[in-house]
Amino acid sequence: MSFADLGLSDELLRAVTDSGYTEPTPIQRQAIPSVLMGKDLIGIAQTGTGKTAAFVLPMIDILGEGRTRALMPRSLILEPTRELAAQVAENFEKYGTNHKLSMALLIGGVQMGDQVKALEKGVDVLIATPGRLMDLFGRGKILLTGCSLLVIDEADRMLDMGFIPDIEEICTKLPKNRQTLLFSATMPPVIKKLADKFLNDPKRVEV
Ligand code: AMP
Repeated sequence: MSFADLGLSDELLRAVTDSGYTEPTPIQRQAIPSVLMGKDLIGIAQTGTGKTAAFVLPMIDILGEGRTRALMPRSLILEPTRELAAQVAENFEKYGTNHKLSMALLIGGVQMGDQVKALEKGVDVLIATPGRLMDLFGRGKILLTGCSLLVIDEADRMLDMGFIPDIEEICTKLPKNRQTLLFSATMPPVIKKLADKFLNDPKRVEV
């Protein structure tokens, strides 16, 4: 199966070819068509399997051209660390150069003022670590009721870092009829419970 069989737009296929990828990895093959159809997903995959592109590529097509005047974030990606959050942002820049999607990064260790300004302009893609996102909630600076796509990445690392209560709270602030993708290298009972509670009839993919 090639990238062309996954249902991605021609524009995105060009970006993928430009990245030098010749064929999709197993997680990409299994996840991308289902994500494009709007289904929830549990992806059991480690870093290095190509899992970032497995959600970034279909998200770019789902979000389309970008709505620069959207007042609330249209999608949210939760990452356990600043480094991972920055990597995901780089992926959106790499594949999404033609899509004019606006993006904001909410991570600790960066001045909050600039992040709030970016949010106020409206963003298509919000990439955040749970701690900083909860901080902004506390200050009344962010509303997620327009967010129809949620990615919880590296869920087992989130668990190790004590972020699960924050993630549960964040999930309740998004609309119920959203699409949710959860990635984890392992599936400990707490993560399974989280998935049962917040995902709707997910497709399960394991690589
Ligand atoms: P990830 O698992 O998302 O951290 O990706 C691991 C590495 O694989 C990254 O450096 C990606 O650029 C690369 N990669 C992702 N998808 C592909 C692909 N289909 N073919 C070759 N390399 C890829």
